[in-house]
Amino acid sequence: MREPQLSGVGVSPGRASGPVVKVTESIEEPPNTPAPDDPHAEAARVAPAAQAVAARLEATAERASGDAAAILTTTAAMAADPALVSQAEQLVTAQRIPAARAVYEAANNFATALASAGGYMAERVRDMHDVRDRIIAELQGIEPPGVPTLERPSVLVARDLAPADTAALDPDMVLALVTEEGGPTSHTAILARSLRIPAVVAVKNVLSLDAEAVAVDGLTGEVRPVDPSAPVVTATDAGNVDWEGVGATSDGHRVKVLANVGSPADALAAAEAGAEGVGLFRTEFSYLDAGDEPTVADQQAAYTAVLTPFAGKSVVVRTLDAGADKPLEFLAQEDEPNPALGVRGLRVAFDRTGVLDRQLAAIAGAAEEAGAEVSVMAPMVATAEEAAWFAERVRAAGLPRAGVMIEVPSAALTAREVFDAVDFVSLGTNDLAQYTFAADRQLGAVAALNDPWQPALLRLIALVGEAAREKDKPAGVCGEAAADPLLARVLTGLGITSLSMNAGSVRTVGASLASVTFDDCRRAAEAALAAPTAADARVAVAETQ
Ligand code: PEP
Ligand code: MG
Repeated sequence: MREPQLSGVGVSPGRASGPVVKVTESIEEPPNTPAPDDPHAEAARVAPAAQAVAARLEATAERASGDAAAILTTTAAMAADPALVSQAEQLVTAQRIPAARAVYEAANNFATALASAGGYMAERVRDMHDVRDRIIAELQGIEPPGVPTLERPSVLVARDLAPADTAALDPDMVLALVTEEGGPTSHTAILARSLRIPAVVAVKNVLSLDAEAVAVDGLTGEVRPVDPSAPVVTATDAGNVDWEGVGATSDGHRVKVLANVGSPADALAAAEAGAEGVGLFRTEFSYLDAGDEPTVADQQAAYTAVLTPFAGKSVVVRTLDAGADKPLEFLAQEDEPNPALGVRGLRVAFDRTGVLDRQLAAIAGAAEEAGAEVSVMAPMVATAEEAAWFAERVRAAGLPRAGVMIEVPSAALTAREVFDAVDFVSLGTNDLAQYTFAADRQLGAVAALNDPWQPALLRLIALVGEAAREKDKPAGVCGEAAADPLLARVLTGLGITSLSMNAGSVRTVGASLASVTFDDCRRAAEAALAAPTAADARVAVAETQ
């Protein structure tokens, strides 16, 4: 008999298999009786309980870092929200119901409002339910629901996982996560990706699956029962099996899989990970605390150290991307009211041509010393004129290939003219998203807009892909978007010719491309472009694959 197989949306890549541990469901609905003898005293119990929960979440946030810390801090703020506390207090006194019941009703009112707001807000409903259950457990003096202590590496199966629980997961003990509900931008998905735990969400009926052990594919979204006596497979074991080291679809359409680097250590890690070359060398990272401009000789030595592991291979060196969040002291930039919209990237070089020319001389020297096939590109280019200005200086320095980053919407909209001025382009999707959505890439509050699956961003990328085909010149992607294995297929279908990412994603993205045909990528691209929202695009693409 064929084993039942379930599927959902893969949100964090990697394959793993092992024993199933189901996460305890939420606590029982508290009754609305007995009526409290003293409603004011009963109402006064709500605030301390909420504060105790918030304090515990904050303490866990302090022990966490990155996304996990940010999510726990947000959940703590939800628990301590004075509006939630005061609504619950009023319900106790007005309806003479126990505090636990009042918290239950007040939190449900907030959750209903979040659900009807839709999109990103609706994905916070689970967070509100988690806060509700924790405060109720505190009031009732019982254990809050959540993940049991794992005694051996296991696959966690849950209806949905609270962010506080997800953030506290130990990646050595959790082989994979599978949830019946949840969406791709839910905190479970964000955290699973940041913890590198394979995860599949929205798997219908997984809680009723009668299996002691399952295999999970965080890329395709498949979940299938396996023999419980088989050895466990961790994501790291699985991550190394599938990729031959040459970026291509299964029918041979070539898409180079490259790495982003900023130091010699990054370059070594990228070479070890099997990157075919470097698609973005962020040179400014070497000089973030330099008080004086480094000499040409010093720069040449620094660049040679990064290029050497890629001798004989292609490396794209980006000239200094200073300004905004990466000021360089020696450039003595003036204070600006909106630095992200000011003199940054290539704009810094317009009245400091000497700095650019000295850097180009150092890059040319390093290319020769290390024997790498070096191309040079400029950051933050807005027009074809700027691209032509840069390309002329690169050629004058004796460097063979000049390109520009496309990270300003105007450059994407005029991609044809930009291509006429340069040999290649590379899409910086991090900044392209920031400038397309007018959403600061450093600000958590607007993170949903900076999602690379946003159809508006994909449409701009499609324009660049079309121009690349027409002009027969390469167009890479070197923003975070390139590191998403499913999105990598979409980008390939949009006409992108190379993908550059952190070393840790190289093999996963290489394997993702190798497991589909170019037609699959085209279908993925069409589905993503036609979707009305980022979340719909993810689901629509997963369904075509
Ligand atoms: C980008 O903007 O996508 C990019 C790759 O450049 P950086 O992240 O260095 O701004
Ligand atoms: Mg950028």
